[in-house]
Amino acid sequence: MRIDPGARLSRRSPEPRADGREAEQAARNRRTRAAVARLAPVHRAALRARESSEEEHQGLRRRYYTFDHPRREGIRAVALSPDTAGPWPAVLVCPGRNARLEAVTGLSAPDHPDRDVAVHLARAGYLTLTLDHGLARGDSAARPDGRDPAIVLDGELRLHGDSVLALLADTAVAALTWLAGRPDVEPERIGLFGHSLGAAVALHAALLYEEPVPVCAASHLGGYPTMFGRLATWDQFAALPSILRYADLPDLYSALAPAPLQIQYGRNDHLLDPADAAAAGNRVQDGYSAVGAGTAVEVLPVDMGHGTAIDQAAAFFSRSLAAPVRVRAEVPAARVGFDAEAREEITDLVDNALASGTLTLGPVGARLEELARQRIGRGSAAVSSGSAALEIALRVIGVAGRTVLVPVNTFFATAAGAIRAGARIDAVDMELDGLGMDPGALRAALAEHDDVAAVVLVHIAGVVSPALTEVLAECAARGIPVVEDAAHALGSALDGTNAGAFGRLAAFSLYPTKVITSGEGGLVTADADDLDLVRRLRDHGKRSFEENVHAFLGSNWRMSELHAAVGATHLPRLDAVLEERRRLAAGYDARLADVPALTPYTVPPGVRGNYYKYVAYLPDGVDRSALKQRLRKRGVALAGEVYDTLLNQQPFFADAFPGRVFGNAEWFAARHVCLPLFPGMAEREQELVVDALQSELS
Ligand SMILES: *Cc1c(COP(=O)(O)O)cnc(C)c1O
Repeated sequence: MRIDPGARLSRRSPEPRADGREAEQAARNRRTRAAVARLAPVHRAALRARESSEEEHQGLRRRYYTFDHPRREGIRAVALSPDTAGPWPAVLVCPGRNARLEAVTGLSAPDHPDRDVAVHLARAGYLTLTLDHGLARGDSAARPDGRDPAIVLDGELRLHGDSVLALLADTAVAALTWLAGRPDVEPERIGLFGHSLGAAVALHAALLYEEPVPVCAASHLGGYPTMFGRLATWDQFAALPSILRYADLPDLYSALAPAPLQIQYGRNDHLLDPADAAAAGNRVQDGYSAVGAGTAVEVLPVDMGHGTAIDQAAAFFSRSLAAPVRVRAEVPAARVGFDAEAREEITDLVDNALASGTLTLGPVGARLEELARQRIGRGSAAVSSGSAALEIALRVIGVAGRTVLVPVNTFFATAAGAIRAGARIDAVDMELDGLGMDPGALRAALAEHDDVAAVVLVHIAGVVSPALTEVLAECAARGIPVVEDAAHALGSALDGTNAGAFGRLAAFSLYPTKVITSGEGGLVTADADDLDLVRRLRDHGKRSFEENVHAFLGSNWRMSELHAAVGATHLPRLDAVLEERRRLAAGYDARLADVPALTPYTVPPGVRGNYYKYVAYLPDGVDRSALKQRLRKRGVALAGEVYDTLLNQQPFFADAFPGRVFGNAEWFAARHVCLPLFPGMAEREQELVVDALQSELS
């Protein structure tokens, strides 16, 4: 039969679907936000209010603050609140380049008709917070040599690849967080206003902030090339360096969708090109429309110069902050987290590797191995995956033609590694205190097989079971080597000894879902002689890297330098990751007291778990998959179980373990769930999970 490829193609790709453009614009918006986050990293540091005083002034309550932020000390700020009882909705006011804090907040006469925005908005019922950017140009005697403070600051920041705008946006994000945490502010009714340079700050802060916030941006519109071509005094600070590689100003505004947005520009603004501003405004409207948010944006040409139409701004906030702004209410099963600093470190390492041409078995891989040695307390070799690490470990021992015992409750790769190394396998039941191999079941299996070449132990959920001591003794008494499948357990310990230091060899995985990742990758830890063989096996069993002389049957199990760059950057953050995971686990421990139907698994004394998984048990008779579906409707995704399907239930192993009963493992597999737990998880997300569980299980 002949198939006309053209006909098949046309059947498979009908008319572009109406939502094709929407998906495309949504993807572009994600890339734009990611680029902004890269060029303007948010340091997630809180503003500390050093001092504050309070007074009444023209019917408004004024509070004066001095904030400290890790990137900038002594930021002056003024909060104005209405003369009514709070809590109020709030607006963060970002003033223009030459605006002084006093003029914006009504303490001195406005030097521009619209300057006292903060006063207007406070009168309209909002708590306003205005940060002094400290860059107003000036004639102040306090500024020696008449130097422009913005240019001085810009010069310092440039040396670090940083920028004035990134700094101002970072502190504005911290100010939004500070506002949201105040008892007199409604945390889901916060907006951003900015004029000129301040509009750029408001735009970038909104792009960087975790929640959607309405933005009113005045007198900052156009394409960057045109704006910069006019050499207005503020615009050199109003764009992120190298932003045009990713996005122009209209793209940045568009990426705010679907959050409410008002852009105002003056028809008589001598600093902007009105025609260019109008064209840019159209692009923003198109961008919003493409994602079905056309009604959330308004672009207002105003009969004014480089100013603000304050009544329009107040009207915008009264519409957009009338009700709580929809906040993200979805908790994913996991989130892979590399902060901006880590991403930059990785990019530099990758760039070095590309420039040097050493793309595998080079200095970055060696660095990862050294970091692992220091952290685990034993030599290590980087390999292409956790599965490869397991197979290599078993090949080093030499298990071909004999039996390897594995726990019945494990990931398929544990068993597959033994089979690929040429062994037969048998499965052993687990114990429920430490989730490890049951010593009694192990003794029974050892009594049955007289050819056991190795026993593989798995530290399920990152728990190094106290039963390990007895298991190791049983194996030692018979001279049988133990391999740890420590894929879950980087950073875990039992009685002060790290996972990876118990067995003759141990295998770690650096897969993206694991506690530390290299993208794809793994580590083998072992003593020096074994490690030497590991290094040969991962490189086709060569006698050495330089010669094509093969003494063993290995494979290509090398880790590339590009993957090693990710791992070598992530691994030094392990202690911080563990601290956060343990804090989140303690948070669940406390909150789950309100969900009596769910019983958290308790990590036994002596065990230092890494909370790779937070395990809890369902009551009798609850259908787990139906529960998971209902939770997902509430925006909560549970993490994957460890494991819901035992080896003997895998089709590949059907009839492989005749007559075996795995009572503990069957109970565990049926009854446990794993709650979402990942670095960067917010308190609110954890509350959402617990609330959803409480509603579904009561
Ligand atoms: C992840 C995992 C593996 C396999 O690791 P990869 O890096 O994906 O090959 C092996 N065993 C266990 C228990 C795992 O969780």
